Amino acid sequence: MRSSATFAALLSALTACIATPPSPPMPLPPAAEPPPPVEVPENEADRAKFCADWCASTSKPCLEQAQKDVEKTDGAPPSEEEMKNLELFCGVTRARCKRRCGDEGAGFLAANSGLPAPAACGGAKMKVRFYDVGQALAALVELPDGRRILVDTGEQPTRAGCGKPCKDWSAHLLAALAKDVPDKKLDVVWTTHQHSDHAGNADTVLKTFEVATYVDNGTRLDEKDGGKPGPIARARKAAADRGTKIVVVDPEHVASPLADVGDVKVRPVVPSKWPTNCDKDPNDCSIALRIDYCKSSVLFTGDAEAKEEALFATDAVTLLQAGHHGSDTSSSEAFAARVRPGWVVISSGKKDEGTNRDYCHPRRSTVERLEGFTASQAKRPLEVFDGICKKPKPGDWVSIDVSDRVFATARDGDILLTTTGDGQFVRE
Ligand SMILES: [Zn+2]
Repeated sequence: MRSSATFAALLSALTACIATPPSPPMPLPPAAEPPPPVEVPENEADRAKFCADWCASTSKPCLEQAQKDVEKTDGAPPSEEEMKNLELFCGVTRARCKRRCGDEGAGFLAANSGLPAPAACGGAKMKVRFYDVGQALAALVELPDGRRILVDTGEQPTRAGCGKPCKDWSAHLLAALAKDVPDKKLDVVWTTHQHSDHAGNADTVLKTFEVATYVDNGTRLDEKDGGKPGPIARARKAAADRGTKIVVVDPEHVASPLADVGDVKVRPVVPSKWPTNCDKDPNDCSIALRIDYCKSSVLFTGDAEAKEEALFATDAVTLLQAGHHGSDTSSSEAFAARVRPGWVVISSGKKDEGTNRDYCHPRRSTVERLEGFTASQAKRPLEVFDGICKKPKPGDWVSIDVSDRVFATARDGDILLTTTGDGQFVRE
């Protein structure tokens, strides 16, 4: 508990400061003093009483007493500016209360202190859009403060052997982005890995939109595609041509490309070293991205497979992009049990469309494993593959009932999920 002597000293420092003209801009005396050590009882009943008493003792009397002290100096009530300073001064005690007593203390203060209630975490919407880009991935996140991150850019329109579906998927993505990003500004374009179903339109996006930062994993930069520069080489050139900042995220470079603002944290999720098979399989050099917003979170893992998933240092997540389009080589039992997703999105092609004829995503076992974590009794049918993709037989594609918190672009088209930071996502 703060001693009354310390409290009086702070008030007298504040009063002296306010009473000495001219002194703009006014410093805030309490900022220099560290908060007093306070032990909050763990027992719930004791804790409630403690928080109520302590928050009251450090708040309501603060503002009242400070007002009285200011009035005493010249007999006039505090001016608007003086009141602002007093509120700031007392706000420090309020912050201490909230820090130690959490929402309980904050709620008490809002009801008793006469100060405006501190902002609760969350409230504004975070929007996560998964585009129906066929056998590929492209997701646009709009943070509550309006900043935008595009995670992967779908399949290139001219992928060999794909034909019209790939053209349509690419055209759909670019049209959807034009609509959803009307000012043409993207804060980050994040490329999980080199494959053309993830980096396929990165160059076009970088040429069409004003992108502040382009991120990739820094590997296979010179890889060719049919004798021409591959998707990453084209993306790098487009970024360089426009002066877009190029950032590599890999085991040695894990800084976030976006600053923490308010209640939002954007974090790369990368192993401390690449898995051994990363050289042969670019899927396992995927750079994952996690966004935390109060009680809600979303994790994109690109095409990371079980070996890399095992090296990701991350835990429970609200919304999971099912790795590698719902393949049975990803979303291992151990990883699924660790991240325990409340909502899942599978981005893959339809069963008989374009490149998904060769991949057969998503797999029944993977979908059943993930849907078990989503806490919903309501079910919807979903087409899944239950066989050997290299030797498909009639009847391998089956419709099963899965949780209505599992979404799939092949069934649902474009998917917009929003959260206010309360640990829930809703489809709009
Ligand atoms: Zn992929």
